Amino acid sequence: MQRGFISYGRQEVTDDDVQAVVAALKSRFITQGPVIEEFEQNIAQKCTAEYAVAVNSATSALHIACIALGLRKGGRIWTSPISFVASANCGIYCGAEVDFVDIDSKSGLIDISLLEAKLENARKCGKLPDILIPVHLGGCSCDMKSIKELSNRYGFHIVEDASHAIGGYYEGSPIGSCIYSDICVFSFHPVKIITTGEGGAALTNNIWLAERMKMYRSHGITRDRSLMTGDNPPEWAYEQHELGFNYRMTEINAALGNSQLKRLDEIVAERRRLRDIYAQRIERISRVSMVAGETSKESSVHLGAILIDKSCSETQRKVFRTLRGLDIGVQIHYIPIHTQPYFQRLGFRLGDFPVSEEYSLSTLSLPLYPGLKEEEQEYVIQSLETAIKEL
Ligand SMILES: *Cc1c(COP(=O)(O)O)cnc(C)c1O
Repeated sequence: MQRGFISYGRQEVTDDDVQAVVAALKSRFITQGPVIEEFEQNIAQKCTAEYAVAVNSATSALHIACIALGLRKGGRIWTSPISFVASANCGIYCGAEVDFVDIDSKSGLIDISLLEAKLENARKCGKLPDILIPVHLGGCSCDMKSIKELSNRYGFHIVEDASHAIGGYYEGSPIGSCIYSDICVFSFHPVKIITTGEGGAALTNNIWLAERMKMYRSHGITRDRSLMTGDNPPEWAYEQHELGFNYRMTEINAALGNSQLKRLDEIVAERRRLRDIYAQRIERISRVSMVAGETSKESSVHLGAILIDKSCSETQRKVFRTLRGLDIGVQIHYIPIHTQPYFQRLGFRLGDFPVSEEYSLSTLSLPLYPGLKEEEQEYVIQSLETAIKEL
């Protein structure tokens, strides 16, 4: 049978999505119009947050979140090594120093006891972080209650990198509700849960942060007359108060996002259904298990990630090669950020975060997205079984 390449993730675009985009294209505004505001209201409402600021990527959202929280040169952020590089780069954009906290080997999420120990140590040398960026790997929330407790004790801000996690929950509340954080960031890249093409959003319950982020999204400019410094400013006045960027999302992207957002619950339910099939079948394959967070009932299930017991350092590579040879687009999430050449130049070394390094050499993400056919998933499972047997 002609099957073609099965990628690990991909967008699902329906006829309704296409119509929504066409309508936006034919409307009077294709950027800075009403659809973006509607999208922001819809995301905020869906996640039970007060405010949402939509931007052109999660990377931009992380950047303006850090700036709005006052991160500057000489500041410090901490995040997880098992994430996409953007989780760390946002700090560097601000001139801050980046450091990492190692993960729990089973869930791939930031290890709370290591975090606590590192904070205690940092307090002693006066090097506490300004912002912690916990990453909800695969759509499973980090232990936000404990993180919030530590932030009260050690006085750092919290920006959730929930790029994988829209539609997920934490202890009954939607991820994005910001109950335990200052800001929560989503990505709408096509492999993520819902897409706007490229796009992201930053959610918060703090009006001041929301307004700051809106200003930084658009050149640091305000058109709010009540904020202007000049006496009796003319009708056309705008004032640049800070150095901002053009991180705006277009109406076209927002229209796609609005249409996709309507299906969020359906999309997550389908992801969980596919995950459950993997979990059930994989239980019977020796030497492999699902990543712990992926099996959580509250996860949005972004990755379909498994862990492979190693017999030698080549195990993961052999399975990867076999599956790729069969046109199955398995992926590694992630290569630890601190091992990237750029971060090595900043002084990080192999061995700095051993659990992350070990995790990265044991994990594999299986194809998982709405639209993955039953026979395709069956083919993935059987191919994995064969690949493990061949080891
Ligand atoms: C995808 C991703 C990002 C960046 O998202 P973009 O929208 O592509 O900028 C950041 N962090 C994590 C964990 C991601 O998976």
